[in-house]
Amino acid sequence: MTTVAQMKTETASVLFERLTQYDYEEIVFCQDKATGLKAIIAIHNTTLGPGLGGTRMYDYKNEQDAITDVLRLSRGMTYKAAISGLNLGGAKAVIIGDPRKLKSEAYMRKFGQFVENLNGKYITAEDIGTTTKDMEYINMSTDHVVGLPEIMGGGGDPSPVTAYGVYLGMKACAKEVYGTDNLSGKKVLVEGVGKVGGHLVDFLIKEGARVQVADVNKEALNEMVKKYDAGVVELSKVHEQDIDIYAPCALGATLNDESIAKLKCSIVAGAANNQLADESIHGQMLMEKGILYAPDFLINAGGLINVYTELHGYNREIAMSRAENIYAVTQGIINLAKEENIPTYKAANKMAEQRIEAIGKINLAY
Ligand code: NAD
Repeated sequence: MTTVAQMKTETASVLFERLTQYDYEEIVFCQDKATGLKAIIAIHNTTLGPGLGGTRMYDYKNEQDAITDVLRLSRGMTYKAAISGLNLGGAKAVIIGDPRKLKSEAYMRKFGQFVENLNGKYITAEDIGTTTKDMEYINMSTDHVVGLPEIMGGGGDPSPVTAYGVYLGMKACAKEVYGTDNLSGKKVLVEGVGKVGGHLVDFLIKEGARVQVADVNKEALNEMVKKYDAGVVELSKVHEQDIDIYAPCALGATLNDESIAKLKCSIVAGAANNQLADESIHGQMLMEKGILYAPDFLINAGGLINVYTELHGYNREIAMSRAENIYAVTQGIINLAKEENIPTYKAANKMAEQRIEAIGKINLAY
C-alpha cells in the first residue's frame, strides 16, 4: 500500500523528472492567504535573456493541470524568442482561479510582488484572463512588466504587428511554392477574423488576394463582407475548400488526422498557437502531403516582438521593422527543412536550439 508520505515523495520526484527532461531552470509557487492568490511562475531558459511570457489566469480543474500548462507554455516561449532573434528567454506564469471572481487591485499587486522578487529574471505580460489594467496594477509592484497601455509607454494592441508577421511568413512560403511572393490572385482562406485575422485580411486584400473567411461570430463575418467583399465559407467546410493557402487564425489543433486528410491547399500559414494537434505526427503528415507549413510560433511572433520593443522605449515602427525579419527566417527554415528532409516545425525547433546553444557557449550574462 502507498502511504500519503510516499505519494508526496513520488509527486515531487515526478515533477523533478519533468523539469530535468526539458531542462527547466526555476519554478516558483506563489500563495497569499490574504488575497487568495495562487500562482506558478515557470522560467524555462534564460540563456538569451530574461524570461518573458504572459500571465494566464484560468480556472484550472486542479493544480496538476496548471503545472502542465505553465511548463508547456514557458518552454514554448523559449523557442519563440530564440527563433525570432530576440534577447529573451522563455517563461510564463499561471494564476489559478476564475478571473471574473477573484481579481482585484490588491490581488494583482501581490502577484506583482512575486514577479519583483525574481529581480528581472522574469518579465510578465498580458495573456488569456488578464488585461492591460491588470498589468497597470502589477506595475505598481514591479517594473518587470510589459503590455502596458499606450499612455503609460506601452505598445497597445499587438495584433497589427502579429498579422504583419503572419502575412510575411505566408509570402515567404509563397515564394517557395509558387516562385513569387506576390499573393495577387491567390485564394486564401482565413479562419477566425478577430483581431489578428481581421488585420491579415486587410494585408491580403491590399495585395489582390482572393480572400475567403470563416468564423463562429456572424458579426465579424459581416464586417469582412461589408469592408472587403470577402467570400464566406461555412465552418464545417473550411478544410475541404479548393484554395491555395489556409490561414488558421482562431483556435489551435485545427491540423489533425481528419482535417489534413481533407486539405487541398499548398500552404498553411496562420496566427493561431499550437496549430498542429500533435507536432510530430501532423508536421510529418503535412510534409508527406506536399503542403508547406509555416511554423506558428515563428510567424505569429509579432505579439512578442511588440512587447519586447516596449523594453527599450516603445515605437510601433521599430516593432514592425523587427517583425519584417520573419520573412527571412521563414525562408531559412524552409531551406533547412529541405536540406535535411525534415518537417518545417522540426527545422524551426532545431534553429532555435542551435541559437541557444551557441549563445550559451559564450556565457553571456543578460
Ligand atoms: P480573437 O479572439 O480576437 O479572434 C479569434 C477569432 O476566432 C474570433 O473572431 C472568434 O469568433 C473566432 N473563432 C473562435 N472559435 C472559432 C472556431 N471554432 N472557428 C472559427 N472561428 C472561431 O483572437 P486574436 O487575438 O485574433 O488571436 C487569434 C489567434 O492567434 C489565437 O489563437 C491567438 O492565440 C493567436 N495569437 C494572437 C496574437 C495577437 O497578437 N493577438 C499573437 C500570437 C498568437
